[in-house]
Amino acid sequence: MNKKLPINVTKWILAVGITASLHAQNQPPSSAPLPDNTVQFIGNGKVKPNRCAAKTPDASWDTWFNQKVAEYKQAQLSERTEANATYTIPIVFHVIYGSQAVGTFPNLSKAQIVSQVNVLNNDYKGVGFNTSQYALMKLNGHPAFYDYAVANSLPAPDNNGIIIANSGITFCLAAKNPSGATMAEPGIDRVSYTAKGWSDPASQTSINGFTSYIDGTIKPGTIWDPTKYFNVWLTDENQAVGLLGYSTFPDGTTLSGLSGGGSGNASATTDGCWVWAGSCGDVGTLSPPYNLGRTLTHESGHYFGLRHVWGDGTCATDYCTDIPQAAQANYVSWPTTYPYNKGTCSSGAGNNTQDGEMFMNFMDYSNDSAMWMFTTDQVTRMHTALAQCPDRSSLTTAANTICAPFAAGITETADLTNYIGVYPNPSEGQLFLEVSLPSTLDLNVEIVNTLGQLVFTKKESGIRTALLSYDLSALSQGVYFIRVTGNGDNRMVKKIVIK
Ligand SMILES: [Zn+2]
Repeated sequence: MNKKLPINVTKWILAVGITASLHAQNQPPSSAPLPDNTVQFIGNGKVKPNRCAAKTPDASWDTWFNQKVAEYKQAQLSERTEANATYTIPIVFHVIYGSQAVGTFPNLSKAQIVSQVNVLNNDYKGVGFNTSQYALMKLNGHPAFYDYAVANSLPAPDNNGIIIANSGITFCLAAKNPSGATMAEPGIDRVSYTAKGWSDPASQTSINGFTSYIDGTIKPGTIWDPTKYFNVWLTDENQAVGLLGYSTFPDGTTLSGLSGGGSGNASATTDGCWVWAGSCGDVGTLSPPYNLGRTLTHESGHYFGLRHVWGDGTCATDYCTDIPQAAQANYVSWPTTYPYNKGTCSSGAGNNTQDGEMFMNFMDYSNDSAMWMFTTDQVTRMHTALAQCPDRSSLTTAANTICAPFAAGITETADLTNYIGVYPNPSEGQLFLEVSLPSTLDLNVEIVNTLGQLVFTKKESGIRTALLSYDLSALSQGVYFIRVTGNGDNRMVKKIVIK
């Protein structure tokens, strides 16, 4: 469904340009949030974005998939299905560029792409940015959506309020390409449209023209076996298109007489997610308020079979009983009040008269900082897709052979540069280290001057995701180097300036 932003949220205020946005879990991003939902397109002016253009599956797919979900739930109840199943998904990012050097938009840096995988893994684990805000949301002393849970007789774990679910799904960067060769940059496939003789995706000026071009030329020309890899395409686009992402839904059954789905479902040449390169990850060339990597979190939700929380209609169903009905898409900025949009759907099961709409769900259209959760029912649907849909179940077996060590944890010799952000730089005395590691490390933080003399040292124990803050105001102005080392030979060195 292609949803456009309402005009009244578009104020055309040029407030924030392109920023290198770094943030840690539950800390405010370093860039100030925009007062509206407009976005600065790279070198191209400011426009209102269209959050998502995923095409919904047809009714026969819904019927088939809902039956599979019911069977999955029944199997869980009778303990024939592991309740806490875990899955690892190998992912490849096709970085589509013209002639830009690596690190120049839209030929994104490895660090920016790695940051996207970190965001996915945190979000799918239920520990991503702003999740701590959820516990602060109370109504009459009860946790968020408590009254809704009671009114709808939700079972555990949601019967005392709807919880942020841990999906058990982890993403890894593919270590091997389709021919089995080890990749120089795990999970990154850089393709120049110029070298291929293709036109610039940004030359397309309508959504339909753009998605037709991506689906008809870019995807078929670059896709890796979608039964083995989760394909993600990153390109620039024309501001007239202004789309943040779109995804295919899982394919349905191959049994005769049943539909595999509609035009938005998986096919061998189009399966996967397209994301505008300017909203990939949370480090690098990004545009607030879509600068925290949640575009791919949302689109990958569709990829695993999730619908929008408003059911793509007024108070329509998304088939999740632990998500209240919603009248339409929400474009919420953070912070906002809770409950939100209470009573917009006031009748029938799942009405939102008590606790309002779940704007903080990844499958709404809120700004990146205002969405932070999947629910238990959504996870059940994703697990069903991973168990039952042909192009999804095969991913998890492929993961055994093509995942980079990334998912299992950081290697002894890993370059920590991709996992640690340093800002502001230059600094006036306060320095932040934003750390998002794939596994826990003890870190040794040292600062040396240009003579190599150690002027600051601090040991940090058991760090995985953290925002570390240091007061360096005692240092005189000038150039220094910050060096962070882990348990092994892994390290990061960066030049910093104190002014
Ligand atoms: Zn969507």
